Amino acid sequence: MNPSTFNTTAKYARELDAKDALRAYREQFYFPQHEGEKVLYFCGNSLGLQPKNTRAYLEKELLHWEKEGVEGHFRGDMPWKDYHHFFSALAAKIVGAKPEEVVIMNTLTTNLHLLLVSFYRPAGKRFKVLMEGGAFPSDQYAIESQVKFHGYQPEEAIIEVEPRAGEDILRTEDILSAIEEHKDELALVMFGGVNYYTGQYFDLESITKAGHEAGATVGFDLAHAAGNVPMQLHDWNVDFAVWCTYKYLNSSPGGPGGAFVHERHRLNPDLPRFAGWWGHNEEERFLMKKGFQPMPGAAGWQLSNAQIFSMAAHKASLDMFEEVGMAALRKKSELLTAYMQFLIEDLNKKGHQFNIITPTNPKERGCQLSILTGANGKPLHEYLTNNGVISDWREPNVIRVAPVPMYNSFEDVYRFVGLLEKYG
Ligand SMILES: *Cc1c(COP(=O)(O)O)cnc(C)c1O
Repeated sequence: MNPSTFNTTAKYARELDAKDALRAYREQFYFPQHEGEKVLYFCGNSLGLQPKNTRAYLEKELLHWEKEGVEGHFRGDMPWKDYHHFFSALAAKIVGAKPEEVVIMNTLTTNLHLLLVSFYRPAGKRFKVLMEGGAFPSDQYAIESQVKFHGYQPEEAIIEVEPRAGEDILRTEDILSAIEEHKDELALVMFGGVNYYTGQYFDLESITKAGHEAGATVGFDLAHAAGNVPMQLHDWNVDFAVWCTYKYLNSSPGGPGGAFVHERHRLNPDLPRFAGWWGHNEEERFLMKKGFQPMPGAAGWQLSNAQIFSMAAHKASLDMFEEVGMAALRKKSELLTAYMQFLIEDLNKKGHQFNIITPTNPKERGCQLSILTGANGKPLHEYLTNNGVISDWREPNVIRVAPVPMYNSFEDVYRFVGLLEKYG
């Protein structure tokens, strides 16, 4: 199966579903309903669907609390005092890290600030941050407030790399040459992994290498990359990264965040950080002594004891990712998204104008396609919603659709493009 053998019949969509090795996972999720049927849910890039097993994971912790009270911290097969440990090996595989390099804690933007405290260390003329233009607002606000915190003006301290005139996505060569051009002034290179608006998956390895050659630290916001594209943060030598888990990782609204700190920083005493008791050497955590000694690795950035319920929900979904594996997910994802692209391009051949701004090369994207609509974008989005499609609208005129390999089917994609065709 590859794009050259795709065809536009409904029968073919059903054949692809029949051959889909992951098709059973669709049944493990709850879908919102539209007129008695599952909606066409393409918003897993915003909030993943609820796995049917989440309830059991939550009930387990409710029961543990009910039966044990405070002793729940020390008893049972998953004592709460050790709770973050139960995530390390699983989360490490999602981002291509060693278990000690990751921790599940807080939320994305909180983690971003905590790691910027350690890894954005402006000094002398090296005080600038290079980021992608049009980054997600929380990244923009976090970086702006961090540079101000260090006494700089955002206009002087933040360099945004923009696509060339008339283009929608960034060229890697332009990112790398911007890094080179500013190499004496950069303290930090901070990019999204997958841009939330265009769906472009940046070349994280090349960006990291160029950032390091320029003498900067390099960090990524993986909100749209975690659980979507395979990564090798350890091998790529990335300094730090953060992500949320409620998008592709289906961990519940506002679910916990993830953080990665490369092994080479595991015990670096020169890194400033904002500390809390949960990051302290766990052998001595309850001795309540003065003098913070961080745990080695990402766990040393923890502040507080684990938020058991949101983490339990995350565990339900991570166990599913463990079972499926990122490689199998990526394989289906490439096919499913290529199939959607094929069907949309076929409409365009018939005179429609759905301009996909996401890169067409599967290596440069995850599963999301961002479709630039003409003047009638908003009514089109409304029409889709009224016909049982959950997709999202992003100002000024983009509809984002994410066929998620864990639970979307080829028939979902077929029916969605059928609706686009009907609308005209
Ligand atoms: C979704 C998203 C966030 C959200 O951050 P929270 O702190 O979890 O609310 C941040 N950055 C990017 C790039 C996102 O896509």
